[in-house]
Amino acid sequence: MGIEFGLEDLAKYPFMKEAGDYVKKLSLRVEDLGQEDYRPAVERAKQRVMEAIQKNYISIEISEPIVELLSFPLALMLVKAMNVEYIIHRYSLAEAIRAESLLKEEKKSIISYIFKSTFNLEPISVKHELFDLKIKLIEYLKRATHFHEPEWKLINRVVDNGFVYLKTHELVRLIREEIRRTIYDRMKGVSLPSMPKNLKEAVHEISRVLPPRSDKFQRVTPDKFPPCIIYTLDLIKKGQNLSHYGRFLLTTYLLSIGKSVDDIIDIYPRSPDFNERMTRYQVEHIAGMRGGRRRYKVPSCRTLATHGLCFKDKILCAKIRSPFQFGKKPLFKKKSTGQIRE
Ligand code: SF4
Repeated sequence: MGIEFGLEDLAKYPFMKEAGDYVKKLSLRVEDLGQEDYRPAVERAKQRVMEAIQKNYISIEISEPIVELLSFPLALMLVKAMNVEYIIHRYSLAEAIRAESLLKEEKKSIISYIFKSTFNLEPISVKHELFDLKIKLIEYLKRATHFHEPEWKLINRVVDNGFVYLKTHELVRLIREEIRRTIYDRMKGVSLPSMPKNLKEAVHEISRVLPPRSDKFQRVTPDKFPPCIIYTLDLIKKGQNLSHYGRFLLTTYLLSIGKSVDDIIDIYPRSPDFNERMTRYQVEHIAGMRGGRRRYKVPSCRTLATHGLCFKDKILCAKIRSPFQFGKKPLFKKKSTGQIRE
């Protein structure tokens, strides 16, 4: 393709195979990382992880490309050593958002190269006043089905001759989940050697900024929730990303059974993209405390099925139309004889 990737490019996109190969060629040993020469890389690795935990964001400034590049695998080691699943998810997402910020400003040729080599997606550059690139319709659909906002619906896109036309930032947003998944998989594959003292200290320091685990999470998890709600809570517990509609379901359901806005907000910090201000706004909006003061109802089982959120239990979910009715409707009718029939 004729694209040369310099050290600075590798530092910008350290999740790429080319960046990993570059670091491998340096033949570093883990015990070397305790040396003074590597202190800036360890410091930057620690900063990467701290920023991810505290701000869901990793800064994009690059002072020394080699320091920036080395700090990525070091940060993976630090997160892996903490062994906290939701931090692994949060870190992966923050790295993906960092890459997204850089890609938005990137040359089209570099974007095409990265997407082809890392995600097997071939965007084609277009000369158009409204669009920058086009991708095959099938590639678009594979990714856009995970987005619920109207602008991602095919009906709202420009499609021509089997291609969907996009602005650079839209294409990059479309691929964020794949970047996140790539980083998550890399982290899962990291084997942890015995670490030198400075890395152990860095892990200890990072552990001190972890958000406290909320015992309210346990309090609002009764064992009588319907399967769809158990599914959403399970994803959050594991620190995995719950779709917007999944969050809407969980929030409306918990409000409907009398949980307070604060109790509900306390559930979400495990989500990889948690932002307290935004979460409070959304929960209060659903609770009817903002805007049009409309309190939203729990979606129907039929609607949830169309969103892939129904995990119907044939017996326990029989005869109900909304998760709100779960456990409230009698499963069996009593005969006047006192016998029980289905
Ligand atoms: S049938 Fe309704 S309550 Fe049961 S899992 Fe599906 S959506 Fe939830």
